[in-house]
Amino acid sequence: MVVQSPEQLTQAIKEEAHRLGFELVGISSVSDPPHEQSFADWLQEGYGGEMAYMTRTEQARRHPSTWLPWARSVVSVAMNYYTPFPRETHQAGAPKGWISRYAWGEDYHTVFESRLDALLGWIRNTVGEEVQGKAYVDAGPVLEKGFAGLAGIGWIGKNTLLISPKHGSYFFLGELFLSLELPADQPIRNRCGSCDLCLKACPTDAFVGPYRLDARRCISYLTIELKGSIPAQIRPLIGSHIFGCDICQEVCPYNVNIEASKEPAFQPREGLHAPELIPLLALNDEQFRSWFKGSPLKRSKRRGVLRNVAVALGNLGSAESIPALARLLSDPEPLVRGHAAWALGRTGTTEARAALDEALARETDPDVKVEIAQALTGGAPSH
Ligand code: SF4
Ligand code: SF4
Repeated sequence: MVVQSPEQLTQAIKEEAHRLGFELVGISSVSDPPHEQSFADWLQEGYGGEMAYMTRTEQARRHPSTWLPWARSVVSVAMNYYTPFPRETHQAGAPKGWISRYAWGEDYHTVFESRLDALLGWIRNTVGEEVQGKAYVDAGPVLEKGFAGLAGIGWIGKNTLLISPKHGSYFFLGELFLSLELPADQPIRNRCGSCDLCLKACPTDAFVGPYRLDARRCISYLTIELKGSIPAQIRPLIGSHIFGCDICQEVCPYNVNIEASKEPAFQPREGLHAPELIPLLALNDEQFRSWFKGSPLKRSKRRGVLRNVAVALGNLGSAESIPALARLLSDPEPLVRGHAAWALGRTGTTEARAALDEALARETDPDVKVEIAQALTGGAPSH
């Protein structure tokens, strides 16, 4: 294609992005994202929980041109990660957990970063080496959904996710900031209408209202972002989720009959769709790192994943998990010991109580002692 005008260049950039595997591409200017004020209010209310990086980067997120003064346009890209495996609602056989769909395949950051770099390389080849550019994939202070919304990729739905009318919401986002002035796409209209399926379906009541999520109650936050103990009152609502949650996407009508991803990197790894839980409890640090190399689960580290697995097993009330949970009462990580104690308390069997009694006698960590004592008396720790 001969690139003569900004319109032709925009079209050529989109074609190249599609060729690189990005199904959705849109362009916007580097203005303040439309929901920057509501983002600030959200932080102010404390709905971001312990995500301190959000607060640290608040101003940069709200006003991108203050830290990227050379940038004139943003190319927003999206790639579908949906693969057609239904969520099992009835457990049969060994207890299984649920991992959010986005985490079944390879970590998307690497996939996106190399392709956005390739896109920037193509732009420089086409326009000139003087073009400045910077790719962001989840890591920078960028309100990604805001830019993708401005670029017409989708609208931000009541579940706070970006939704494309044709492709639903199971996609990853990335951005390439450019020093080029490019004609911007138009945002599309919000199509949620009177629907409130996502708000009603949330098992933890994490939506304060439409478009407003209290992350502190969201299973995705609790099982991925939160580093410490999961509040005991909310553990029973987490069900068998061990890494993220898709419920407010599953119920969305725009996620019905969507195409499956053809991207090899996003196809499920063996055993990550509905994984058996008990074998996960036996992983030591080295085995964990080797098993989850290149997987998004690596981010939660062994202690975070085992914490979540213990909660899921407690919720499933699985008697066959008692020996494995009892072994975890001697785990080096207090976080793991405490959640294993909670799970054993939920099963309430004689075997579980005996393991808890023994553990209480030798435990030295004050928080874990409280967890064990509460597990034995059936109460919830007050944190
Ligand atoms: S991800 Fe799950 S817990 Fe979080 S808001 Fe959606 S339905 Fe609720
Ligand atoms: S479930 Fe309904 S209200 Fe929620 S995001 Fe989808 S369309 Fe919007």
